[in-house]
Amino acid sequence: MIITEKKQKEALLQSLKGFDKLFLTACGGCAAKSLTADEKSVKEIMDFLVSNGKTILESAVIESVCDMRLVKKTLSRNENMQKADVVVALSCGAGVQSIESVLKEKNIIPALDSKYIGSTKRIGIYKKFCSVCGSCILDQTQGICPRTRCAKSLVNGPCGGFVNGKCEIDQNTDCAWVLIYEKLKNNGKCQDFLNQYVVPL
Ligand code: SF4
Ligand code: SF4
Repeated sequence: MIITEKKQKEALLQSLKGFDKLFLTACGGCAAKSLTADEKSVKEIMDFLVSNGKTILESAVIESVCDMRLVKKTLSRNENMQKADVVVALSCGAGVQSIESVLKEKNIIPALDSKYIGSTKRIGIYKKFCSVCGSCILDQTQGICPRTRCAKSLVNGPCGGFVNGKCEIDQNTDCAWVLIYEKLKNNGKCQDFLNQYVVPL
Protein backbone atom coordinates (compact mmCIF):
# COMPACT_ATOMS: atom_id res chain seq x y z
CA MET A 1 0.00 0.00 0.00
CA ILE A 2 1.03 3.62 -0.33
CA ILE A 3 2.52 4.91 2.89
CA THR A 4 1.75 8.52 3.69
CA GLU A 5 2.85 10.92 6.40
CA LYS A 6 1.01 13.88 7.87
CA LYS A 7 2.27 17.26 6.73
CA GLN A 8 3.49 19.63 9.41
CA LYS A 9 0.40 21.37 10.78
CA GLU A 10 1.89 24.84 10.39
CA ALA A 11 2.76 24.14 6.73
CA LEU A 12 -0.79 22.96 6.11
CA LEU A 13 -2.16 26.08 7.71
CA GLN A 14 0.08 28.17 5.51
CA SER A 15 -1.30 26.40 2.39
CA LEU A 16 -4.81 27.19 3.56
CA LYS A 17 -4.17 30.90 3.89
CA GLY A 18 -7.12 32.81 2.42
CA PHE A 19 -9.47 29.80 2.52
CA ASP A 20 -12.15 29.79 5.22
CA LYS A 21 -14.76 27.18 4.31
CA LEU A 22 -13.22 23.74 4.09
CA PHE A 23 -14.42 20.36 2.90
CA LEU A 24 -12.31 17.53 4.28
CA THR A 25 -11.88 14.24 2.44
CA ALA A 26 -10.18 11.24 4.01
CA CYS A 27 -9.10 8.06 2.28
CA GLY A 28 -10.44 4.94 3.95
CA GLY A 29 -7.87 2.79 2.12
CA CYS A 30 -4.08 3.03 2.41
CA ALA A 31 -4.06 6.36 4.24
CA ALA A 32 -6.47 5.15 6.92
CA LYS A 33 -4.46 1.96 7.31
CA SER A 34 -1.19 3.87 7.62
CA LEU A 35 -2.83 5.92 10.39
CA THR A 36 -2.76 9.24 8.54
CA ALA A 37 -6.46 9.37 7.65
CA ASP A 38 -8.00 7.16 10.32
CA GLU A 39 -10.77 8.47 12.57
CA LYS A 40 -8.33 9.81 15.18
CA SER A 41 -6.22 11.63 12.58
CA VAL A 42 -9.27 13.19 10.95
CA LYS A 43 -10.52 14.44 14.33
CA GLU A 44 -7.08 15.75 15.23
CA ILE A 45 -6.77 17.75 12.02
CA MET A 46 -10.33 19.04 12.24
CA ASP A 47 -9.76 20.24 15.82
CA PHE A 48 -6.55 21.94 14.74
CA LEU A 49 -8.15 23.70 11.78
CA VAL A 50 -11.20 24.81 13.73
CA SER A 51 -9.01 26.16 16.55
CA ASN A 52 -7.25 28.21 13.87
CA GLY A 53 -10.45 29.85 12.69
CA LYS A 54 -11.39 27.53 9.82
CA THR A 55 -14.92 26.31 9.21
CA ILE A 56 -15.30 22.66 8.26
CA LEU A 57 -18.48 22.35 6.23
CA GLU A 58 -18.26 18.58 6.05
CA SER A 59 -15.85 15.71 6.20
CA ALA A 60 -16.24 12.62 4.05
CA VAL A 61 -14.45 9.29 4.17
CA ILE A 62 -14.10 7.70 0.72
CA GLU A 63 -13.21 4.04 0.62
CA SER A 64 -10.40 4.57 -1.91
CA VAL A 65 -9.81 8.13 -3.04
CA CYS A 66 -7.65 6.83 -5.89
CA ASP A 67 -10.85 5.44 -7.42
CA MET A 68 -12.28 8.36 -9.39
CA ARG A 69 -15.63 6.61 -9.65
CA LEU A 70 -16.03 6.66 -5.87
CA VAL A 71 -14.89 10.27 -5.70
CA LYS A 72 -17.44 11.25 -8.32
CA LYS A 73 -20.23 9.34 -6.63
CA THR A 74 -19.48 10.84 -3.21
CA LEU A 75 -18.52 14.40 -4.01
CA SER A 76 -19.78 15.63 -7.37
CA ARG A 77 -23.30 16.51 -6.20
CA ASN A 78 -22.55 17.32 -2.60
CA GLU A 79 -24.05 20.70 -1.65
CA ASN A 80 -21.40 21.48 0.96
CA MET A 81 -18.74 20.78 -1.60
CA GLN A 82 -20.26 23.42 -3.83
CA LYS A 83 -20.11 25.94 -0.97
CA ALA A 84 -16.55 25.06 0.07
CA ASP A 85 -13.59 27.29 -0.78
CA VAL A 86 -11.19 24.39 -0.77
CA VAL A 87 -10.93 20.62 -0.41
CA VAL A 88 -8.43 19.36 2.15
CA ALA A 89 -7.38 15.87 1.10
CA LEU A 90 -6.05 13.29 3.53
CA SER A 91 -4.81 10.89 0.88
CA CYS A 92 -1.82 10.07 -1.28
CA GLY A 93 -0.95 12.18 -4.32
CA ALA A 94 -2.99 9.91 -6.60
CA GLY A 95 -6.01 10.51 -4.39
CA VAL A 96 -5.49 14.26 -4.51
CA GLN A 97 -5.41 14.09 -8.31
CA SER A 98 -8.50 11.89 -8.46
CA ILE A 99 -10.35 14.64 -6.65
CA GLU A 100 -8.84 17.27 -8.92
CA SER A 101 -9.94 15.30 -12.00
CA VAL A 102 -13.51 15.07 -10.77
CA LEU A 103 -13.83 18.54 -9.27
CA LYS A 104 -11.84 20.55 -11.75
CA GLU A 105 -12.96 23.95 -10.51
CA LYS A 106 -12.03 23.33 -6.87
CA ASN A 107 -8.93 24.33 -4.97
CA ILE A 108 -7.34 21.24 -3.42
CA ILE A 109 -4.77 21.15 -0.65
CA PRO A 110 -3.07 17.88 0.33
CA ALA A 111 -2.71 17.25 4.06
CA LEU A 112 -0.39 14.27 3.59
CA ASP A 113 2.91 13.48 1.92
CA SER A 114 3.19 10.25 -0.11
CA LYS A 115 6.36 8.45 0.94
CA TYR A 116 6.63 5.00 -0.65
CA ILE A 117 4.96 1.69 -1.34
CA GLY A 118 5.29 -0.47 1.71
CA SER A 119 4.12 -3.64 3.34
CA THR A 120 2.48 -3.79 6.73
CA LYS A 121 4.39 -5.68 9.39
CA ARG A 122 1.88 -4.63 11.97
CA ILE A 123 -0.31 -1.54 12.26
CA GLY A 124 2.02 1.46 12.48
CA ILE A 125 5.09 -0.54 11.41
CA TYR A 126 5.68 -0.54 7.65
CA LYS A 127 8.46 -1.92 5.50
CA LYS A 128 9.67 0.23 2.64
CA PHE A 129 9.81 -2.27 -0.21
CA CYS A 130 9.20 -0.41 -3.48
CA SER A 131 9.99 3.06 -4.83
CA VAL A 132 7.88 2.59 -7.99
CA CYS A 133 10.89 2.92 -10.29
CA GLY A 134 8.94 1.82 -13.36
CA SER A 135 11.42 -0.88 -14.34
CA CYS A 136 11.20 -3.76 -11.91
CA ILE A 137 14.28 -5.94 -11.45
CA LEU A 138 12.94 -8.25 -8.75
CA ASP A 139 13.22 -11.14 -11.22
CA GLN A 140 17.02 -10.67 -11.11
CA THR A 141 17.37 -10.04 -7.41
CA GLN A 142 15.47 -12.89 -5.79
CA GLY A 143 12.47 -10.72 -4.96
CA ILE A 144 14.49 -8.22 -2.88
CA CYS A 145 14.54 -4.65 -4.20
CA PRO A 146 18.00 -3.05 -4.05
CA ARG A 147 16.72 0.17 -5.58
CA THR A 148 14.64 0.65 -2.46
CA ARG A 149 16.32 -1.37 0.26
CA CYS A 150 19.98 -0.50 -0.44
CA ALA A 151 20.78 2.90 1.08
CA LYS A 152 22.62 3.84 -2.13
CA SER A 153 20.07 2.21 -4.47
CA LEU A 154 22.89 0.18 -6.01
CA VAL A 155 21.91 -2.30 -8.70
CA ASN A 156 25.45 -3.70 -8.78
CA GLY A 157 26.10 -4.09 -5.06
CA PRO A 158 27.25 -4.62 -2.47
CA CYS A 159 29.28 -1.47 -1.96
CA GLY A 160 31.73 -3.20 0.37
CA GLY A 161 30.82 -1.14 3.40
CA PHE A 162 28.55 -3.66 5.07
CA VAL A 163 29.49 -5.05 8.49
CA ASN A 164 28.14 -8.38 9.72
CA GLY A 165 25.42 -8.25 7.08
CA LYS A 166 24.26 -4.79 8.14
CA CYS A 167 24.29 -1.65 5.99
CA GLU A 168 27.11 0.82 6.61
CA ILE A 169 24.59 3.66 6.53
CA ASP A 170 22.33 2.13 9.18
CA GLN A 171 23.60 -0.65 11.41
CA ASN A 172 20.03 -1.67 12.26
CA THR A 173 19.19 -2.45 8.64
CA ASP A 174 20.21 -5.54 6.74
CA CYS A 175 22.39 -4.86 3.70
CA ALA A 176 20.05 -5.55 0.81
CA TRP A 177 22.88 -7.00 -1.27
CA VAL A 178 23.91 -9.42 1.47
CA LEU A 179 20.29 -10.61 1.58
CA ILE A 180 20.28 -10.99 -2.19
CA TYR A 181 23.60 -12.82 -2.20
CA GLU A 182 22.53 -15.22 0.57
CA LYS A 183 19.35 -16.05 -1.27
CA LEU A 184 21.11 -16.49 -4.61
CA LYS A 185 23.59 -18.82 -2.89
CA ASN A 186 20.87 -20.85 -1.15
CA ASN A 187 18.97 -21.21 -4.41
CA GLY A 188 22.08 -22.14 -6.41
CA LYS A 189 21.69 -19.06 -8.63
CA CYS A 190 24.92 -17.14 -7.98
CA GLN A 191 26.49 -18.08 -11.30
CA ASP A 192 23.33 -17.26 -13.25
CA PHE A 193 23.31 -13.85 -11.59
CA LEU A 194 26.98 -13.22 -12.38
CA ASN A 195 26.52 -14.26 -15.99
CA GLN A 196 23.96 -11.56 -16.71
CA TYR A 197 24.60 -7.93 -17.51
CA VAL A 198 22.84 -5.56 -15.12
CA VAL A 199 22.59 -2.07 -16.54
CA PRO A 200 24.00 0.47 -14.04
CA LEU A 201 21.57 3.10 -12.84
S1 SF4 B 1 12.79 -2.64 -8.81
FE1 SF4 B 1 12.16 -2.06 -6.76
S2 SF4 B 1 11.49 0.07 -6.95
FE2 SF4 B 1 11.50 -0.81 -9.00
S3 SF4 B 1 9.37 -1.56 -9.28
FE3 SF4 B 1 10.64 -3.29 -8.56
S4 SF4 B 1 10.32 -3.29 -6.33
FE4 SF4 B 1 9.67 -1.26 -7.06
S1 SF4 C 1 26.10 -1.69 2.81
FE1 SF4 C 1 24.70 -2.80 1.45
S2 SF4 C 1 22.68 -1.79 1.66
FE2 SF4 C 1 24.23 -0.43 2.55
S3 SF4 C 1 24.76 0.98 0.91
FE3 SF4 C 1 26.24 -0.73 0.80
S4 SF4 C 1 25.37 -2.22 -0.60
FE4 SF4 C 1 23.73 -0.79 -0.05
